[in-house]
Amino acid sequence: MFTTLSKTPKILVIDDDASQIVLLHKTLKTIGDVIFEQDGRAALDRVIDSSPDVILLDIDMPGKDGHEVLAELKANVLTQHIPVIFLTSRDSVDDQLKCLRDGAVDFIAKPPEPAVVAARVHTQLTLRSRERELVESYRHAKVIVESIGDAVITTDQNCIVTYLNPVAEVMIGLPSAEATGQMIEDIMPLRIGDDGPPHINPVRVAILDRRVVGMALNCQMMNQRGAWVPVEDSAAPLVSETGEILGAVIVFSDINESRALAAKMAQTVQYDQVTNLPNRFLLLELINTEITMSKRSGKKIGLLLVDINQFKLINSEFGFEYGDALLKKVAQRIKVLLRRGEILSRHHADQFMLLVPDLDRISDLNYLAESIKGDLTLLSQRQPELNGLSASFGLSIFPDDALDGQMLMMHADSAVHKAKKDADNGGVCFYSSEIESQSIARRHLHAQLKSAIENEDVIALFQPMIDPVSGEVLAVEALMRIRHQDGSFISPMDFIPLAEETGLIIELGERMVDLALQQLKHWADDGRRIRVCLNVSPVQFISPRFVPFLLEAIEQYGVSPEMIELEVTESLMMQNLDQVIGDMDRLRSRGISISIDDFGTGFSCLSYLKDLPVDVLKVDKAFVAQISADGSDYVLARTIVALAQSLGLQTVSEGVESAYQASQLRGLGVSLLQGFYFSPPVPADDLQTRYLI
Ligand code: C2E
Ligand code: CA
Ligand code: CA
Repeated sequence: MFTTLSKTPKILVIDDDASQIVLLHKTLKTIGDVIFEQDGRAALDRVIDSSPDVILLDIDMPGKDGHEVLAELKANVLTQHIPVIFLTSRDSVDDQLKCLRDGAVDFIAKPPEPAVVAARVHTQLTLRSRERELVESYRHAKVIVESIGDAVITTDQNCIVTYLNPVAEVMIGLPSAEATGQMIEDIMPLRIGDDGPPHINPVRVAILDRRVVGMALNCQMMNQRGAWVPVEDSAAPLVSETGEILGAVIVFSDINESRALAAKMAQTVQYDQVTNLPNRFLLLELINTEITMSKRSGKKIGLLLVDINQFKLINSEFGFEYGDALLKKVAQRIKVLLRRGEILSRHHADQFMLLVPDLDRISDLNYLAESIKGDLTLLSQRQPELNGLSASFGLSIFPDDALDGQMLMMHADSAVHKAKKDADNGGVCFYSSEIESQSIARRHLHAQLKSAIENEDVIALFQPMIDPVSGEVLAVEALMRIRHQDGSFISPMDFIPLAEETGLIIELGERMVDLALQQLKHWADDGRRIRVCLNVSPVQFISPRFVPFLLEAIEQYGVSPEMIELEVTESLMMQNLDQVIGDMDRLRSRGISISIDDFGTGFSCLSYLKDLPVDVLKVDKAFVAQISADGSDYVLARTIVALAQSLGLQTVSEGVESAYQASQLRGLGVSLLQGFYFSPPVPADDLQTRYLI
């Protein structure tokens, strides 16, 4: 009856051994999106960030081993439900038992046999998707049972009440919580006719006879107020998959007018009369249901309280009818902005509350608040009598801020008070002050990035790359800065992650392409042959705009593609590899070269690299830093340079800070050197005066 959207499953491989990662990637990429983590110490954060559907976990890892990682995952409510398959080279019975006792769902012997790995991962994914469908249908079923016009009561196999839906609460005259635990006969005594004999409760018959039972005609039920009500009903046993009787469900309704009244009352108890939205009581139940789901799925839940500012003034100036109509309109407009299962409720006079299940990122809640804010501004522009209608927003998050629905609501409420009091939060406040200050900083930075793009405050600095033998500048790396109003620069370390998350990196990167090609043209006109190396974020590279934009810019500036190099990181290879390789081939066929930046910090698999269409390997600063004057061996730096050379790749060493490092690297035959020893990144004009006169 209920369909769930099927999405590509995510498989996380935690293994320090790059060759295993390559093998597993090849094996599993047809089953789902494969992501990797090489460091056991970073595993928990990685799992929380990526919320994978299954984890393959190596046991022997330096820093933190697989058993320790699993213990950490099992101790965290966000991660404890994710199935973990151990990869182990220890295959004694004791070892295998230990894996299972720790809570792993399966183990695979190393070296892994591809077909076995694929089959086992597939099994776990299938199990998990079934479980998710069950949870999903439970969620839907609960909403339906809560909102139908019939009374529903469930009992266990001993006829002890376990649940009453809202209509049953009204008809019986008892809240579900009080009825739970009582015998079915105690809360709904039955009789035949006006003063007829007692009638056996059909729940009992359904359990005894394992069949659906209708109630006798002319049946009456006494409610808790002592009144006899004519009812019509049927009961059915609840049977488990293995045929065991778990209890029974009885569905009944009042057959005279009071039936309509009961339904109406239940509706009043649950829905707001003006907007027809769920009221705070129903929402509280729905939040608690979501919390139960979320403990299984590991997803966060957000609550967003929307408080219309100065609503009292609107009411007193235009009257309640106008006020009610406005609330209805606001509710409709907010609903239009919703996308994925959010539930809007009327919380209080001029307050709406929005329940956001399955929150991927905390910032999504922020964006939702901002879009409602923007929409209210539009509405008030259209209705000038509203005099700048606005709202304040209070946000709270499960499980960060509270572990139950009531507290979560209270926290959203105190956040909205903070939002009203504090002028410089833009009317949006999180309950947690830590999340709050992070979110303010992010909002501020986001605004700065957008204004930098509009006001041409994106700047390119250039750092020279030197030929170790001649000392000549053969290339430069273009490095982005954002200019602050006060003239200072913001470092890319501080803004690239946010720019990638929000997609602004695409426009920022396009500005850099423009600035760099403009400079390239300038040098070419002066008769200088200097290659420009551009950093390209994976987000930018895989966007369909990137390749056409670059090729068009090359055309427009009339520069030679041979003078352009793109620095990409190994993380790019974790995206859609076939598409990435296709784009790289296309760019290289035009003469553009590709370099792998920060080599040695990520995936770092040289055997894999030989199949990639790249020209240059940029060895990370960390390896250069290993070359110190104290004579210690810098075996890794030497190995990487030698291997790169054997693959026919050029090598660049970045982060060269001393004459000693420069001379050692020259001895290794590195193609180009870059670092503070030669020059920091500088504006093009300074570069010209220092090196190029
Ligand atoms: P990266 O690509 O690894 O760039 C090299 C970084 O090392 C630069 O930092 C540079 O200033 C710094 N550096 C240069 N010489 C030395 C040295 O001798 N010692 C040390 N310790 N550091 C040195 P910067 O400019 O802050 O850039 C940081 C990162 O931001 C870059 O790392 C790159 O990943 C990213 N980035 C910079 N510009 C862009 C851009 O236009 N687009 C994209 N997508 N990312 C960029
Ligand atoms: Ca770089
Ligand atoms: Ca680098």
